[in-house]
Amino acid sequence: MNFCSHCGHTVRFAIPEGDDRPRYLCDACGTIHYQNPRIVAGTLPVRGSKILLCRRAIAPRKGFWTLPAGFMENAETTVQAAARETREEACAEVAIHGLYTLINLPHINQVYMIFLADLEGGFDAGPESLEVALFEEEEIPWDELAFPTIERTLHHFYADRRGEAFPLHISDITAEDRERYFGSA
Ligand SMILES: [Zn+2]
Repeated sequence: MNFCSHCGHTVRFAIPEGDDRPRYLCDACGTIHYQNPRIVAGTLPVRGSKILLCRRAIAPRKGFWTLPAGFMENAETTVQAAARETREEACAEVAIHGLYTLINLPHINQVYMIFLADLEGGFDAGPESLEVALFEEEEIPWDELAFPTIERTLHHFYADRRGEAFPLHISDITAEDRERYFGSA
């Protein structure tokens, strides 16, 4: 951030009085610009023995497979965000059961919240997807998944399905984990 979004003056990056970390400060109008993590909400849509994946039509990771998920908007709930992203990316309606994976990514200031859901009705590629398809476990394109959060969620799902119980999994993905996943990229 270079300029104050409130008054247009230049900002400086410094620790405000009484705070413990640097923020963008505007000396002209006094605004402290707090920046906080963003929530990525999505679903793991299930139909019988199959799950739904979308192949991304947009960067980052264009051409790779993902669960329908995206940034939560203001004025919506996490469940609404997950259902909306599923509708936008896969043209699909879902019955959402419960939160399944909550994954913190502190190095990129994101929190993933993936809900377990039943796929209802048809599906199709939305504008952000090249294609949308159902996969059996042995058909999952493990080497072509878009993000480590998706890979981890699917690993949990198949392990849990063998035990027929799907508890909430809370975990973290660090910069080092991400490097292992993407190589030097
Ligand atoms: Zn200002």
